[in-house]
Amino acid sequence: MPTPTPLIPLLALLALLATCSTAPSGSRDGQAAPSAAAFLFDGSSTDAWVMARDGSPCRWEIDAEGAMVVNVGAGSIRTREAFSDFLLHLEFAVPNNPPEFTGQARGNSGVYLQGRYEVQIHDSHGLPPSDNLCGAIYSKAAPRVNAARPAEEWQTYLIDFTAPRWGEDGVKLANARVSVWHNGIHIHDDFEIDGTTGGGAPEGPSPGPILLQDHGDSRVRFRNIWIVPR
Ligand code: MG
Repeated sequence: MPTPTPLIPLLALLALLATCSTAPSGSRDGQAAPSAAAFLFDGSSTDAWVMARDGSPCRWEIDAEGAMVVNVGAGSIRTREAFSDFLLHLEFAVPNNPPEFTGQARGNSGVYLQGRYEVQIHDSHGLPPSDNLCGAIYSKAAPRVNAARPAEEWQTYLIDFTAPRWGEDGVKLANARVSVWHNGIHIHDDFEIDGTTGGGAPEGPSPGPILLQDHGDSRVRFRNIWIVPR
């Protein structure tokens, strides 16, 4: 008697393959952008970005794999556009810096929300959670767990940010709040940020850009950056 065809597992496999083949390139590790998202970097152009220092054209470059790479020493970059409340997604890979690069010089970059509040990027695989390592709200909150992957591996951040609320008299009525998922793990749950982090722009009622840090020592790579303002 012939063996019955394992129809259901076969259909499941075909469905999985179909999903894989239709996934947009560059998002195999991250989340596909929802239709409401605006791409800040999709692998084709750095036009959404300028040098943070003076607003001149972005001098970070796109490598052969379509990733945007920190131009070490050139300075941080920021979006042309400014944002208030948003959901932000990005993928990053930290370099495996030589051993003489220690501590904060290991794979350091960061995502500054509104140019004010840094979600740290760092080569932190296997280290205890800390308020200055990967996943930290820099100097304010350690991640609940350290979800960092080894250097050179692609990682994801999904960041849900709510800007501070301000009265007409310029008095802050409510602090900024942030939830962060690192490689899909919920590492900050509606954390209240009581002020800017080191190197951040002063707080104020105006919207602000997304800023990616050049720490001066680390060729961190980025891809698949999208935002949904809300
Ligand atoms: Mg940093």
